[in-house]
Amino acid sequence: MKILVVGSGGREHAICWKIAQSPKAEKIYCAPGNAGIEEYAECVPIGAMEFEKLAAFAKENAIDLTVVGMDDPLVGGIVDVFEKEGLRIFGPRANAAILEGSKAFSKDLMKKYGIPTAAYENFDDPEKALAYLETADFPIVLKADGLALGKGVLICNNLEEAKAGVQTIMLDKQFGAAGNQMVIEEFMTGREVSVLSFVDGKTIKCMTSAQDHKRALDGDQGLNTGGMGTFSPSPFYTEEVDKFCKDHIYQATVDAMRAEGREFKGVIFFGLMLTPKGPRVLEYNARFGDPETQVVLPRMKTDIVDVFEACIDGTLDQIDLEFEDNAAVCVVLASGGYPVAYEKGFPIHGLESFKGKDGYYVFHAGTRKVDGQIVTNGGRVLGVTAVGSDLKTARANAYEAVKLVEFEKAYCRSDIGKAIDEA
Ligand code: ATP
Repeated sequence: MKILVVGSGGREHAICWKIAQSPKAEKIYCAPGNAGIEEYAECVPIGAMEFEKLAAFAKENAIDLTVVGMDDPLVGGIVDVFEKEGLRIFGPRANAAILEGSKAFSKDLMKKYGIPTAAYENFDDPEKALAYLETADFPIVLKADGLALGKGVLICNNLEEAKAGVQTIMLDKQFGAAGNQMVIEEFMTGREVSVLSFVDGKTIKCMTSAQDHKRALDGDQGLNTGGMGTFSPSPFYTEEVDKFCKDHIYQATVDAMRAEGREFKGVIFFGLMLTPKGPRVLEYNARFGDPETQVVLPRMKTDIVDVFEACIDGTLDQIDLEFEDNAAVCVVLASGGYPVAYEKGFPIHGLESFKGKDGYYVFHAGTRKVDGQIVTNGGRVLGVTAVGSDLKTARANAYEAVKLVEFEKAYCRSDIGKAIDEA
C-alpha cells in the first residue's frame, strides 16, 4: 500500500515509524514532514491545510490510505474533502471533529448524555459571563471555545483574574474566533491521565494510558507548552478507573456522537482527571496526542495499518489491539526560550547514536535539513523515547538517551515521570 501521513511533528514521526513496521506499507509519504520523518517517508512540500493540493497529490500518486495527525485539518474538514474525491482517509469528518473543535459542543454533549465532567456554563456574551462570575466560587476555569494551541484555558483564582480572562478571551480576542464563545467551568483537582482510543463509528478500543507534562519547567512550574514529556502506562490508571471509564465515558461518547448524527471514526483522546469523586472528562481531542503518541505507539504490538483500515471499514470489533507489558518514557528536548521566543537553525549532533539501538527512539518535532545537516526548526525539537521493563527503567533509559544528543541552548525537564515514585 501507498500511505500518506499529514503533519510535521513528533506525533507524525512516531506514526510514520509505526506504519513502516507494517508489511502492508510499501511506500510512505508525509506532507509536509520533517528531517526525521525522511528516514521512513518521502516528504512532500504541501501544507497540512492545503486540502485540495493534498487530495490531488493522493490521486496522482494512487495513495491507498491517508492518515491525519493534526487537529486543524481535521476540524477544518480534510476528511470530507478526501471522501468527496473517493479517497480513503483515517480521521473524523468535520461534523465529528467538532468534539475537539468546540468545547461548548463537547460540554453540551456530555451534559445531554450524562458523561461525567466538570459543571459548566457556556457564554457568547461577555456581559453575561461577567455577571455570572460575580456570584461564582473560585478558583474557576475559563476556556475559549475553539482551538487555541492548548493556550485557551485560564485558571482564575479570584474575580479580578476571571474578569481579566473574559477580557483576554472574548473582548481582546487573543485566541481569535476561538474566543467567540467561552466555557466557564468548575475547578477540579486530581491527577491527569490521557487515554487514546481507536473508533470505527460504533466500536471503541482503547490504547494504553499515558501521562503528559504540560508546563515548561520542573515541578510543573512555568508556562503551558505543547507537552514536555510523557510516560506510559500511568500507574494511577487502575483497573477500577478503567472499569468506571468503560462503563460511563468511552462507549457513552461514541454512542452519543452516533445518536447526534455525527458518527466518529478515528482517534478519540480522552483527557481525564481522577478527582476525589471519580474520573471526569477534562477534554476530548479528535486525534492522536503529542507527545503521548511517542510513548504509546512504541508499546503497541498490533499492526497499525490494519487498525486504520478497520476504523474506516467499521470492522474494529475484529481487531485484537495489543500492547507490550512494558513501559515507555519520552523526554522532550526544547530550544531555549520555548514556549515564548526561541531561535532556530542550530545544528543537532548525536542523532546517529540512535541507529540500530533497540528500544530507543528519537522522534523529531521541529527539525529540518540544511545542506545535509539536521538543524533545529521549532520550539519543541526532539522527543527522546526509551522503553524499559517497567516505568523506572524506562525513565532511566530515556534520561541516558537524552545525553546522546546535543544542540545549542537545548533544555529539557529533569523530572519527567517523577509521579512514578508517588504511585
Ligand atoms: P490541549 O489542547 O493542550 O490538550 P486544551 O487547550 O484543549 O489543551 P484542556 O485540556 O481543556 O485545554 O485544559 C488544559 C489544562 O488545564 C488541563 O490539562 C488541566 O491541567 C487544566 N484544566 C482544564 N480544565 C480544568 C478544570 N475544570 N479543573 C482544573 N484544571 C483544569
